[in-house]
Amino acid sequence: MASRRPFVGGNWKMNLDGARAVALGEAVARGVRDVPGVDVAIFPPFPYLMVVGRALRGLDSGVLLGAQDCFHEPDGAYTGEVSIAMLRDCGVGVVLTGHSERRHVIGESDDLVGAKTRAVLAAGLECVLCVGERLEEREAGQADRVNERQVRAGLSGVAPEQVRLLTIAYEPVWAIGTGRTASPEDAQRAQARIRGVLGDLFGADAASGVRIQYGGSVKPTNAAGLFARMDVDGALVGGASLDAGDMLAIVRAAAQVGSGTTRAGA
Ligand code: PEP
Repeated sequence: MASRRPFVGGNWKMNLDGARAVALGEAVARGVRDVPGVDVAIFPPFPYLMVVGRALRGLDSGVLLGAQDCFHEPDGAYTGEVSIAMLRDCGVGVVLTGHSERRHVIGESDDLVGAKTRAVLAAGLECVLCVGERLEEREAGQADRVNERQVRAGLSGVAPEQVRLLTIAYEPVWAIGTGRTASPEDAQRAQARIRGVLGDLFGADAASGVRIQYGGSVKPTNAAGLFARMDVDGALVGGASLDAGDMLAIVRAAAQVGSGTTRAGA
């Protein structure tokens, strides 16, 4: 099995102002310099990408600048949208697609998420494709079916050689911003199923190299338990990523696992 380097992302959503965004980016960048073995990305709001990116480069920390969304067309009459070339211009190296708030608050379809994912990967940027079931889908026993549908639609038309740029974030919607986290066992079970779908699409070897993050109320207090599971390769963190101390504690928990702790299956 491929060994996967843990990956922790901080999704700042629609929070902060310019000065606070730069200060938070700098605090994370300074803090991660002492934590080897983990890839770290932060996802500021669009207007702050350039200033935060400049701050990250100044500190030479290796923290990757991420965008919370993108539009798949290269240019044209798409008022309010932001192209992938524009994001690259701002120093972005990784883009989220299909975040649950884009799917369920803004109304993005599986097809649109797929178009965005294809465009990000075709541009040679890293992509974190977010999938996850809603509470009513989980209660109806449809969680695996929903995740599989979102993974297949999100990756339709993606070429096998692009998979090295892909991360999946499994984010059960009922756990996002609610303080209710999936248990490590539940996360592992769902993520192993998702890896099985990736294997079906791209082959077992490629699938074993794809990092699958867990997202949904990850905090310093629950991160280590989640990361101890075999198919949980890091986290996409929302609320806790707005506090540099919490974000760094989660990154350190990922580093512990990355440094060789035995990880359990289901
Ligand atoms: C997210 O926004 O992807 C997320 C997981 O949020 P939170 O950690 O606040 O649940």
